[in-house]
Amino acid sequence: MRPIQMVDLKQQYQQIKAEVDAAIHEVIDSAAFINGKAVQDFSASLAGYLGAKHVIPCANGTDALQIAMMALDLQPGDEVITPSFTYIATTEVVALLRLKPVFVDVDPKTFCIDPVALEKAITPNTRAIVPVHLYGQSADMEAIMEIANRHNIAVIEDNAQAIGSDFVFSDGRKQKTGTIGTIGCTSFFPSKNLGCYGDGGAICTNDDALAAKITKIANHGQSKRYYHDIVGCNSRLDSIQAAVLNVKLPRLDAYIDARRKAADFYDKAFAGNPKITVPYRADNNKHVFHQYTLLLEGVDRDSLNKFLADNQVPSMIYYPVPAHRQQMFADFGGASYNLPVTDWLTERVISLPMHTELDSEQLEYISTKVLEFINNH
Ligand SMILES: *Cc1c(COP(=O)(O)O)cnc(C)c1O
Repeated sequence: MRPIQMVDLKQQYQQIKAEVDAAIHEVIDSAAFINGKAVQDFSASLAGYLGAKHVIPCANGTDALQIAMMALDLQPGDEVITPSFTYIATTEVVALLRLKPVFVDVDPKTFCIDPVALEKAITPNTRAIVPVHLYGQSADMEAIMEIANRHNIAVIEDNAQAIGSDFVFSDGRKQKTGTIGTIGCTSFFPSKNLGCYGDGGAICTNDDALAAKITKIANHGQSKRYYHDIVGCNSRLDSIQAAVLNVKLPRLDAYIDARRKAADFYDKAFAGNPKITVPYRADNNKHVFHQYTLLLEGVDRDSLNKFLADNQVPSMIYYPVPAHRQQMFADFGGASYNLPVTDWLTERVISLPMHTELDSEQLEYISTKVLEFINNH
């Protein structure tokens, strides 16, 4: 059996090596390292794939979120509602821009922001909502957009973990996650579902004026070379990363299928076990399984984590400390929040290896080891 990785990027590279190597060398030969043809091509291809009017590439997913908030002209003290059960980047940029993060609990089934709790958290100062499509499952974008539109609040989708997912509205309309809100943000960090070989990110929107502003902010607030209209930053996707992404984007749907197949295998292996809840799959979206995360009941999770490691099976806790309990947010009243579902999940989730290269021998071994521990403890 091949050694089991949490994410097997080496094996995936072997399948596309010839194309990736050629694409990288083409960039080097052209010496167009910054904003070269590969970047323009990728931006157009991703817009086509997502069905978004504009895609603006940038340096990473965290920058994408920051630039989105800058483009919406949010002012110090403005409130931004986010889940606390997320990767720190979502909430960190809120504080970085001196905005006020407002943490909201998540749905116990989807692990995404709870629309009812979200509406309760809205005040006259709320300017933006940042739903996170956690682990590859879309938040309830229909309910969220309805609330946001009613209150005239912008929505920034954190799509870093769900690129390629579809959300299906109750009238049957289907839209890619990241293209439903005012602005969508994503990351091409190597381990993401569409990952490059370094850092990368993108912002998408269907609004022409916002797209122009986002482009400007990501390029030092510049309209014409050396003429700077507004304060911006320097956030670029480099051409070599774009070249890698140009090879991988046409394979994204196949990569998602491979992840979903691995998830099906796990689901079947764990079906009916009273101590395990497998990932929920809502009817209204396509789970793209950035993570395959179990919810455990009556299991010593840290001992399971150690048992698996001792048996050469990596597993991870995403995330051991929710945002509102991070010291970073102590001054924002983090500890005063009461988010029972978030705390409950934080103590019970464990993520198993999930990537495009898992074979049935590995999946069988992983699930056997998980069940061996759970059934004997
Ligand atoms: C990865 C990730 C980000 C940040 O992306 P980087 O490219 O690492 O900056 C933001 N939000 C979520 C939910 C993520 O998973």
